Amino acid sequence: SHVKKYFPLKKGLFANRHGYVKAVDDVSFSIFKGETFGLVGESGCGKSTLSRVLMRLTDADSGEIRFDGSDLLKLKGKELRRQRRKMQMVFQKPFESLNPRRTVGEIIGAPFEIHREAAGPDKEQRVKRLLELVGLSPHYINRYPHEFSGGQRQRIGIARAIALNPKLVVCDEAVSALDVSIQSQILNLLNELQNEFGLTYLFISHNLSVVRHMSSRIAVMYLGKIVEIADAGELYANAKHPYTKALLSAIPMPDPDFAKERIILSGDVPSPVNPPAGCRFCTRCAEAMPICSEVAPDFMQISDKHAVACHLYENGGNPTGSTDRG
Ligand code: SF4
Ligand code: MG
Repeated sequence: SHVKKYFPLKKGLFANRHGYVKAVDDVSFSIFKGETFGLVGESGCGKSTLSRVLMRLTDADSGEIRFDGSDLLKLKGKELRRQRRKMQMVFQKPFESLNPRRTVGEIIGAPFEIHREAAGPDKEQRVKRLLELVGLSPHYINRYPHEFSGGQRQRIGIARAIALNPKLVVCDEAVSALDVSIQSQILNLLNELQNEFGLTYLFISHNLSVVRHMSSRIAVMYLGKIVEIADAGELYANAKHPYTKALLSAIPMPDPDFAKERIILSGDVPSPVNPPAGCRFCTRCAEAMPICSEVAPDFMQISDKHAVACHLYENGGNPTGSTDRG
């Protein structure tokens, strides 16, 4: 909750007044056990940084991450390793994330080198079982990553991620590099594994249609801030934030009742080094009001399953168009 992440910048690369990029700024959300929480936004909006902060692969400058009874940001050493083990990651590039010189058995079995007890009495049997669980033949155990297709490699990455029975699996653009037909197979596999093992997913993607098929709740991120969080169905039927509406209008809808007029976003994504004052979306928002470039909107709960950060909804969730804040 309320995680801040500022990247110290290399000298001369970019520089703002403070010398820091606000990659993730004052972001707050909860992920419920057993759900798939989708995180959507354009590339560079801070999604991957947020996941790296959660996994403690990158340190946050301030904030708190409650996970399984402790504040992850305060843990060190053995305690941190114990909690880290319960969170695993599936990466975007199924080839780059697998060591080409190690066999599939060594790759999937690697987590057991640190956590021996997790393999049970027979490590090889356990690895073979993991291969089966992700839909691969146990006979593949001695093969190398280059012998597999992209989809198979991603299955290997998933087997590695679930080897230690994690509670949370972070999937960062996990299917983005795959062909569309292969994508749906991998998404189905993730769903099956979730049902079987009660996994919780943080599912990160720039692709709203992929996120839609996976998620029970969805957060939309823009320039390091979450601008809207809602139940998946609610978000698609009743998006509030102008940025979410623009993203949604760009996906083809099979059901004409839901087809929306395409909203074209004007202007480029501003630099995260110097985000616009007030609402960060104000330079591209067709509904911007004078207050928008001055005051950052608060994140407001507008119903039990919907929260949004936009001045349009400050009057009890009803669009006002008024800039009078009383
Ligand atoms: Fe647009 Fe203003 Fe809402 Fe930001 S706060 S999304 S600029 S209407
Ligand atoms: Mg990314």
